Amino acid sequence: MSFETLNLHPLIIKATLEAGYTIPTPIQQQAIPELIAGHDVMASAQTGTGKTAAFMLPALHRLATPSKVRSRGPRVLVLTPTRELALQVSEAASKYGRRLSRIKVISILGGMPYPVQNKLLSQPIDILVATPGRLLDHIQRGRIDFSRLEMLVLDEADRMLDMGFIDDVEKIASATPATRQTLLFSATFDNGIEKIAARLLKTPKRIQIATQQARLDNIEQRLHYVDNLSHKNRLLGHVLRDETLKQAIVFTATKRDADTLADNLSTQGYDAAALHGDMNQRERTRTLTKLRRGGLQILVATDVAARGIDVADITHVINFDLPKFAEDYVHRIGRTGRAGASGIAVSFASGNDKIHLKRIERFTGQCITSHIVPGLEPRFKPRPANDERSRRTPGVAQKRSRSWSKAYGNKQNFNSINGNRPNSPGRSYGDENNSNRPFDNAHNRGNSRRKDQWQKF
Ligand code: AMP
Repeated sequence: MSFETLNLHPLIIKATLEAGYTIPTPIQQQAIPELIAGHDVMASAQTGTGKTAAFMLPALHRLATPSKVRSRGPRVLVLTPTRELALQVSEAASKYGRRLSRIKVISILGGMPYPVQNKLLSQPIDILVATPGRLLDHIQRGRIDFSRLEMLVLDEADRMLDMGFIDDVEKIASATPATRQTLLFSATFDNGIEKIAARLLKTPKRIQIATQQARLDNIEQRLHYVDNLSHKNRLLGHVLRDETLKQAIVFTATKRDADTLADNLSTQGYDAAALHGDMNQRERTRTLTKLRRGGLQILVATDVAARGIDVADITHVINFDLPKFAEDYVHRIGRTGRAGASGIAVSFASGNDKIHLKRIERFTGQCITSHIVPGLEPRFKPRPANDERSRRTPGVAQKRSRSWSKAYGNKQNFNSINGNRPNSPGRSYGDENNSNRPFDNAHNRGNSRRKDQWQKF
């Protein structure tokens, strides 16, 4: 199947071809015809499947025909859980719509100054991409006219639900015309998502794309049990000396840890930098551009900041801290094995992580093989020694001149990382800054839907 057969406006096809796309991805093949036919759609598809173009191309197709309603308000509204995703969606809209005349795309995100946003909202808008909280604020102040809104997209709806945005999403939806076309994209269709879909969508067409398992087939998943932070640091040094490593993303639980670890790695001679939500957009863009151009070997990132990173040379993803949620594990390791390449995903887990590992394995439908590095054996042995899944990883030749283990393994460095760990009670879910160690209190976070989700496994 080609883009030409999808009945999209010729100038949209031209832009997709210019973007280097020749064949629509499965989600695009299935969703685009339904959306052009005007149906509501709920699709289970994740980042990396081409889902953005799956909804943005038909959205632009609508915009190629002038609205019959005289208004300056948006014709397409996309709600996303995070600022990063919103910016990616806006960029995609501008890229795919660049051949159409005067498509105005704006982003309304939390944490940005109101006066700038007020000005943006006072101009004619075609596509509005927003995070729910801030958008609702503007709606309640009467700054948005939805009278000509034709399409509402809920991107990563499961995550919006998890992050507690769903009431806002429903309020926003109720401010839009009932005649709208509604699209819901989610990693999973569980009860919570089904309920929202039942409330906001009209007899939707359901599309289910590739299971988690299929998507991870080209990624070798390894597990290293760790006794403590010092042990973890020494194992990280070992993994980073792997000769097959071209570029890597190391995930930490907090922004602070990302900064500390990136600094330490830089001190050891690695081209390393941090990426997290406390950095301004310019800094983030600069770091990502450097990563894409190969000027950065190791990116130390938090979940939110690293979503959607698409760099072909990332050979390794290292979960220095396990993610809090099973689906984040999939998002993280999906940063490697891009464009048909194979990848290695290494996770460090302590004794406290046993139950959470099980949940990740249930979520992915795959068992993570535990590896033991000679000389770095864990004292803690959660699985029987004769467990067939336990393998010995061959030692890695210490070819590189970096003196990682010397400096990084020493007590001073260890303490500098450890000493920076925040450990305050009452942290709120979704705040990287305040995020606890992996899975700490994962079950204790109030009425979070996460709780149900975890208990489901
Ligand atoms: P998404 O799932 O929307 O985050 O897209 C993941 C990546 O796939 C992005 O880098 C897109 O530019 C790319 N992409 C989307 N559609 C296609 C396509 N039909 N062919 C090749 N790459 C695509």
